[in-house]
Amino acid sequence: MKTATLTDAQTVTIDDVEKPEPDPGELLVEVRVCGVCTTDLHMYSGNLTVDYPLVPGHESAGEVVAVGGETNDFQPGDRVAINPSVPCNECRACKSGRENLCHDLTSIGGAATHIIDGAFAEYVTVPVGNAERIGELDYRTASFAEPLGCVINGIDQTGLSSGETAVVIGGGFIGQLLVQMLRASGAGTIVLSEPIAERRELGLEVGADYVVDPTDEDLSAAVSDLVDTVDIAIEAVGFPETIEQATDLAGPGGRTLVFGIPPEDATVEISPSNLFFDEREIVGSYSLTPDAFARAVTLLQNDRIDVDSLVTDEFELDGLETAFEEMESREGLKKVIYPN
Ligand SMILES: [Zn+2]
Ligand SMILES: [Zn+2]
Repeated sequence: MKTATLTDAQTVTIDDVEKPEPDPGELLVEVRVCGVCTTDLHMYSGNLTVDYPLVPGHESAGEVVAVGGETNDFQPGDRVAINPSVPCNECRACKSGRENLCHDLTSIGGAATHIIDGAFAEYVTVPVGNAERIGELDYRTASFAEPLGCVINGIDQTGLSSGETAVVIGGGFIGQLLVQMLRASGAGTIVLSEPIAERRELGLEVGADYVVDPTDEDLSAAVSDLVDTVDIAIEAVGFPETIEQATDLAGPGGRTLVFGIPPEDATVEISPSNLFFDEREIVGSYSLTPDAFARAVTLLQNDRIDVDSLVTDEFELDGLETAFEEMESREGLKKVIYPN
């Protein structure tokens, strides 16, 4: 089978390797679609330390073609979305339902303590517990279950109540998904801050009530003109400056969510007095739980999220390097790969 393998930083090689056999408790899935994520880009560019060679790709869906072992709920022909996070199910984080914080997490193609080969390949093997049935849902939409699950986990951290006001900083792919999910979760007013005009327009189409160009006007002044108070400020870029901006925006009782991946050595300034007197909170969000993944599949099946308007580019396996190059120059939005 063909795989797109990272053999070194900045190097994708299309390899021809033996098709894997599923062990007992595993499924062999023919990958129909795999989305390209910023994490893949970080592995490619060398910003994220990983051991090469490595087959990335953790946002996938496909068809079960073989089942390992004897008794199994799945059969060849089943259509599934793949949750890439394989928790140990033994540590305290796992036992408390926070499998995303597992002390010994394995990821199928994503970032974690242990990384096994991912879905930029014609076939991938996955533990039975990581496959979620998708029914008749189309594969491309199903491949959004992983990023949407991460977004669901993030919004869960904010404790959003219906009718609350939210500001999202950053209208990239994840920012647009956050806007949609805030809407689906009952946010009252949604403001999106984004410097690129097309992304602001898209934000309005997918559910933002207002958009602001932070390079054109002062974000905090613009937001106070639009809404009385901000309950939830979400940073979806990963820069220290925008994280500080988000903490400044959240009002009394407000929560700031750090969703963008910040540089490992970054620090920010906060006002502890604001945290104390205004009971403000700053929360983080990492990856997703099996529960969030299952809820993401349900939302996608019931058409609550518009996936089509977010996909701008589609490639075969050998287009992965082009996809990375376009992401580095911020061309387009979501890119997906069809390995078969
Ligand atoms: Zn991802
Ligand atoms: Zn664990």
